[in-house]
Amino acid sequence: MNPVLEIINLHVAIDGKEIIKGLNLVIPSGEVHAIMGPNGTGKSTLAYTLMGHPFYEVTEGDILFKGESILEMEPDQRSQRGMFLAFQYPVSIPGVTVANFLRTAINARRRAANPEDKGIPIPEFRKLLKEKMDYLKMDPSFAGRYLNEGFSGGEKKRAEILQMAVLKPEIAVLDETDSGLDIDALKIVSEGVNALRGPDLGVLLITHYQRILNYIKPDAVHVMMDGRIVETGGPDLALHLEEHGYDWVREKVENGAAA
Ligand code: ADP
Ligand code: MG
Repeated sequence: MNPVLEIINLHVAIDGKEIIKGLNLVIPSGEVHAIMGPNGTGKSTLAYTLMGHPFYEVTEGDILFKGESILEMEPDQRSQRGMFLAFQYPVSIPGVTVANFLRTAINARRRAANPEDKGIPIPEFRKLLKEKMDYLKMDPSFAGRYLNEGFSGGEKKRAEILQMAVLKPEIAVLDETDSGLDIDALKIVSEGVNALRGPDLGVLLITHYQRILNYIKPDAVHVMMDGRIVETGGPDLALHLEEHGYDWVREKVENGAAA
């Protein structure tokens, strides 16, 4: 299986301070991988770095998407190539509906592939949107809402999932907030990911809590600590962490380092 995402000896600094310290991770196409870890270990830093946020400086290592380094690519180039970052558009955009926003995003991608492209014809777009919204069991009126304006946490997640459905990324990076998602948002995200997961969609699910993994069964679970992946296992690793916390992983890492 070809890896869709390959992170090699990644080092990332913020303001000259190293946060990610030699992280290695491979996600084969179509697999759902979870990263868990205590607060402050650099999980969100990893997500922002994948997105290409300018604050995050890659000082060493590489990130390959479909075999190609993305380090020199702008965030929109990464997205046009098929990377999806859930918090890419966290702001509300006055006067722009969910449908308008999605059509603009589709057209940006089409133009990246072919500068001559005239954009998706409206009837074709309407059909696509309806098909995806039906599939995700979303109320059609949602498409006419202004993006993120007065959205609940659950509605923001619904907009993200719909965006994933129409853009069909090959890797989606979802960073759960440290406070966790409320139950409504959790269900929307997990139902959406489960409906969309398949051989063409890889998912990197970043989470502080085990809870979402009760709903989305990952192919692999990685533990991140102090800027590195220090443990990898199957879905049972998440359950073990929920029950026993992170101390045993920390001890294992320290003993390993001492040995
Ligand atoms: P996690 O998501 O695992 O809780 P973060 O990636 O948010 O961890 O943070 C990792 C470390 O980087 C923390 O020590 C945090 O204080 C630091 N950090 C994160 N963002 C910034 C920033 N913008 N400026 C300075 N330090 C930051
Ligand atoms: Mg975080």
